[in-house]
Formats: sequence, C-alpha cells, structure tokens
Amino acid sequence: MARYAATAKTNSSITKQLPVGNRHIMDYRVESSETQRNKCAACFRQFNKIEHLVDHMRTSFHSVHEPMCDICRKHCRSFESLREHLIGPLPKVECAKIFSTRGCNLCLAILDSHNSLRIHWGTCQQPHSTNELLSRMENLGVYDDMRTDNSRGRGTQIVALTCKTVGGGSDGSMDLLARICLTDEYENIIFHTFVKPQIPVTNYRYETTGIRPEYLRDAMPLRQVQRKIQDYLCNGEPVWKIRSRGGKARILVGHGLDHDLDCLGIEYPAIKIRDTAKYPPLMKTSKLSNSLKYLAQAYLGYEIQTGMQDPYEDCVATMRLYTRMRSQNHKIEDHPIASDPQNRNNFASWRQSELERMTPEELLEISRSDYYCWCLDGKGYA
Ligand SMILES: [Zn+2]
Ligand SMILES: [Zn+2]
Ligand SMILES: [Zn+2]
Ligand SMILES: [Zn+2]
Repeated sequence: MARYAATAKTNSSITKQLPVGNRHIMDYRVESSETQRNKCAACFRQFNKIEHLVDHMRTSFHSVHEPMCDICRKHCRSFESLREHLIGPLPKVECAKIFSTRGCNLCLAILDSHNSLRIHWGTCQQPHSTNELLSRMENLGVYDDMRTDNSRGRGTQIVALTCKTVGGGSDGSMDLLARICLTDEYENIIFHTFVKPQIPVTNYRYETTGIRPEYLRDAMPLRQVQRKIQDYLCNGEPVWKIRSRGGKARILVGHGLDHDLDCLGIEYPAIKIRDTAKYPPLMKTSKLSNSLKYLAQAYLGYEIQTGMQDPYEDCVATMRLYTRMRSQNHKIEDHPIASDPQNRNNFASWRQSELERMTPEELLEISRSDYYCWCLDGKGYA
C-alpha cells in the first residue's frame, strides 16, 4: 500500500494506469491520512472531517482528569473502560501485553518493573476493615454523643456517612433509617447509633441488617439524629450559606448519598458531597453506578458486605475510595471545570474556522472536565 501511495505522489498520471482494485486502495490511503489528522488527541477516535472532530470536542469534555492508559496515553471516561482497554475482553494488544507483566490490577497503574509492581501492590491492596471493627464494636455499643471533643475527630474536614434501613409500610418496602455511622478520614468512628423509626417496622431485613426489634425500641429518635448529623456536617455554618467549596462545612463522603440523606431527612449542598456512586471515573461504561461491594473488590482488593452489612465497613470502603481518587496526580490547570465562569462556553467563544485550524492537541488543551475531579480537593480547592 505504501508503495502505491509513493508512486502516486511522484507521478500523478499513474492513477489512470492503475487497475480499479488498486485505485480503490489509493483512495483509502488518502482518506486514512485525513482521518489520522482528525484523530481525537484524547480518546483516539478518528473522524473523516475536521468539523466532526470539533463537534466531538465540544461535547466530550476530555480533560487531564480522565483515567488514562499509562502506555499509549489514551483517555477513558471511567476506570472501567480503562480496565477494558488494558485487560479485556477486547484489549489493545500492545498495552495489554505490557500491563500483564507490570500493571497493577487495582489502580491500573504501570510500574517500572515486575519487582516494583510487587512492592506497589502491597500498599495498593487494602486490608479488610472487619477485624479492627470487631474490636471496636466490643466496647462500642453506641457512640451517640457525636465525639466532637475527640481531638482527632474535631479537626476532620472530611467524613463518611452510611445509613442502614429496615422496612416499613404494609409490604415492608419503605426504607426506614435504623442505623447510622459517621467516620473520619482516619477510620475512627465519630458517631454510631441505632435509630428509632417514626412509624412501625414491618420488616427488620435481619439477614442483611442484623437488626432486632430490641435494638430500636429505646434507640435515639430520628429527629435527634437529624439535628446531630446536620450540625456536625455544617460545622457552624447555616446550610443556605454553604455555597463555596471552601468554608467550614465538612465534605461528606458516601455511596448513594441521595438515598442516605433522604432516609435521614436532611439536605446537604451538592458542592460538599463526594459520592462514590456518582463520580464518573468510578461509574460503569454504561454510566450507571457500580455497587460499593464491586468497587471495594475491584479498586481496594477486598470483599465487603459478605453477610450482615455493617455501616462502619461501608464508611471505611467509601472513604478509602475517596482518598485514592483524591490522590490522583493530575496536571494543575487554571479553571479546571468546564462550568467555571472563566470557561463558560469555551468552545463557543472561538470561531468555528479558528477551531478547525487547531491541531487535535490544541483542541484538547482548551477542553475542560464536566465534573469536579476529587484530585482538586487535595490541591486546595476544597
Ligand atoms: Zn475524544
Ligand atoms: Zn483530577
Ligand atoms: Zn493504552
Ligand atoms: Zn495499584
């Protein structure tokens, strides 16, 4: 194929002499060098026309915050699609080959050698939290005094919350808050209690909750729990005032927090919420949420929720996922989010003709993320 193309370049009249089949090959060459030029610098998709690449860039929100293959630098929307790229079922052969010898199957990083992979894996795989939990639980009973006097707890700006529910209503399908746990960044329990629901429980869901009627009979009333949690999260600031990422209000980490906050009956500003069920890099390629059980297994390397579910175990898993995502080492750029006022309509502010003159790399340079990457919490944005 290369030979035909070279000949055609030096002697344009040759086209006429070539048999039809070969001319077909040559047309293909021309087209493929064109699509090569119109190749997205992030996801490597190829387009026949530059305007199609520009359209793609307007809507794809590629950025330095996307999970990326350490080998070919391809950007992926989620770690799951990066996993497919590296492991399969239909991986990129060159990348899969290198990954299989020195890639970490948890964080998907590529290490220098097999030996450094071994050392890395020892730190990347997290220990199960249950043993510690059991020893805590022995003298735990309930920590319902909101241990804000605890010197380690008081300073924490980031807390994980998990709620467990029992069933109410005639068919037991209504979720009623029955148990709640709040932990700090260092896996200490800040608050843990059973909660007395406001309406009768019709299904204790014992197999997964382990909750018996006597645990709830004299438990803390829902209203009191609401007030304690809300006060603790807001940390002295009224809810309506929490508009910026900074400020005293605490960052709330959890999995499916909409549901938890709903059961709890409180509202908390989205700007302070870090939900492992909704963070795009941790979602499925289908853009649905992964279960916390799956995420713990795939990214932390241990199993949770094997029998009766413990809210402390869930808090620890979500917090570990959060801190892992926060420690991602992404390039620092001005105005990292597409919706930042300075970026408003970044692509619209350029003329179409100007955009079409840019290289794929230049187009990527002006593209920004459409979600708040948690690495920014570690860079002073929170
Ligand atoms: Zn792309
Ligand atoms: Zn980032
Ligand atoms: Zn790759
Ligand atoms: Zn790793």
